Amino acid sequence: MPILLDGNKVRDQILAELKPRVAAMTRMSRPPRLAVVLAGNDPASEIYVRNKVKACQELGIDSEKHTPPQSVSTNELLELVDSLNSRKDVDGILVQMPLPNQVDSKSILLAVSPDKDVDGFHPFNVGNLVSGNPGPHPCTPSGIMELLRRYQIPIAGRRAVVVGRSDIVGKPMALLLLHAHATVTICHSRTADLAAICRQADILVAAIGKAGLIRGDFIKPGAAVIDVGMNRLQTRAEAEALFASCQEKMAQFDRKGSLLVGDLHPLELDCAGAYTPVPGGVGPLTIAMLMSNTVASAEWRLAAAAG
Ligand code: NDP
Repeated sequence: MPILLDGNKVRDQILAELKPRVAAMTRMSRPPRLAVVLAGNDPASEIYVRNKVKACQELGIDSEKHTPPQSVSTNELLELVDSLNSRKDVDGILVQMPLPNQVDSKSILLAVSPDKDVDGFHPFNVGNLVSGNPGPHPCTPSGIMELLRRYQIPIAGRRAVVVGRSDIVGKPMALLLLHAHATVTICHSRTADLAAICRQADILVAAIGKAGLIRGDFIKPGAAVIDVGMNRLQTRAEAEALFASCQEKMAQFDRKGSLLVGDLHPLELDCAGAYTPVPGGVGPLTIAMLMSNTVASAEWRLAAAAG
């Protein structure tokens, strides 16, 4: 049986390690502070932001939420980001994506001061990632690196395949694995014979956004498979396409009216050596690493102010 890589457990470890660092900073000067910008009323974004604010509260990190309306302009958001950049008590700025259509998202991400960019999306920090310099690095891939490290999954010299080449997951994931001395291949929607390439992977990371696309015959026996995908099956036909043979899953769908699944086919993981479940795998790590980036940013700022 493959080992289940438990994201909730690793998240708890990461947060437990951050707690004394937050307490020490609070004793010596002030708690770290994260400013979250939630523009408009995207329901999924509201949930993500709520979870981020909750994680701050649990750790003793101060947070503040800015909620400009759906009609906000690029200039108004730039002014808000500028004001947060100039505040000495703000250590991290997180602009929740997606922004309303009329906003030029790239110019907003560019405006966030790189030393407050706790998402690691600013080109300055992307450059540091490419060069192998310290973070902040994007939260989801750095959370996956923590998971691999804590489960002692060897990386150096192994073959890693990352499916997906987005700026927030696929590309930074590939770079982090490369810096850890894996031999890395990046796949995408134009990759020919995806299954054959995936089958070479000792570490397979799926960051696609297509429910169950990675089937059992894509997996090399014994490989560590990491599922970043979060896909909600909304119709019975969608659920049947993956789970026709599994009464238990179909009953779950009928009870809940939807099912959350990853990019790996959840019934075809038997030959893997280790795997992350969905939910409970990669998801919890993303917020933990956001907290970690915020604490690191505050420590750096307070040290710079002291010396
Ligand atoms: P994007 O849509 O930005 O990127 C998806 C990537 O998958 C693209 O590079 C695309 O290729 C590739 N792709 C699409 N179809 C195929 C295919 N048939 N074969 C091979 N590659 C394909 O998504 P994100 O990277 O932002 O997110 C990916 C998934 O991870 C989503 O489900 C998202 O919800 C989830 N996610 C989960 C997080 C978590 O905390 N658990 C955090 C962030 C994301 P191409 O470039 O050619 O179009």
